[in-house]
Amino acid sequence: MIIAIDGPAASGKSTTAKKVAHQLSFIYLDTGAMYRAVTLAVLNAGIDPNVEGDVRGVLQNLKISVEESDGESKTFLNGNDVSEEIRRTEVTDHVSAVSALPSVREEMVTIQRRIADGKDAVVEGRDIGTVVFPEADFKFYISASYEVRGERRGLDLKKLGIELSKEELIKDLKRRDGIDSGRMHSPLTRADDAILVDTTDMTFEEQVAFIVEKVRNS
Ligand code: C5P
Repeated sequence: MIIAIDGPAASGKSTTAKKVAHQLSFIYLDTGAMYRAVTLAVLNAGIDPNVEGDVRGVLQNLKISVEESDGESKTFLNGNDVSEEIRRTEVTDHVSAVSALPSVREEMVTIQRRIADGKDAVVEGRDIGTVVFPEADFKFYISASYEVRGERRGLDLKKLGIELSKEELIKDLKRRDGIDSGRMHSPLTRADDAILVDTTDMTFEEQVAFIVEKVRNS
């Protein structure tokens, strides 16, 4: 069974998806982490993230894998654990540009299907219910107000020792939303058959319970 969870950055999607997977004993796949890993490889290679031909060259020599250990999802780039590095501001600044490239999407979607196809999986991203698994058994689209998303992103970054004002955080969320929603290929959009979950006034526990109950009661 596939549960697709899509939505914009800092909507509460990742923490919720991880916990839902844990409660249902499903595997958890964070597809954003994969796009971040490609972006890290592009930056490490000193390549312009907007030049598709150069990025394609990097893609050819890339091995991205994900593993779960102690309930945490780890991302590996050519065998190295990059789970923390991919959360760096520099990666966040360029990930939407890299993710907009069709060759990058094609490669990542192939890997995502290979990992989750035929399994019980919670797959989280931007285009899971629309493109990667359009036949998913359940589709959820998680959203929240910019105010709340800014607060959530601020708390996440604080844990990594990064402090930014709420205005800067909201500006960056709007910038990324603009690129993710406006791109030609697989834009961020709610699938027609996805259940909308507005988490603005929901606690983390309520978000998890809402999804788990929908799945269990169907
Ligand atoms: O989920 P997260 O914010 O870590 O994702 C980072 C970026 O990866 C997103 O802003 C988006 O540009 C890209 N992404 C995507 N498709 C997905 C998951 C993430 O384009 N399925």
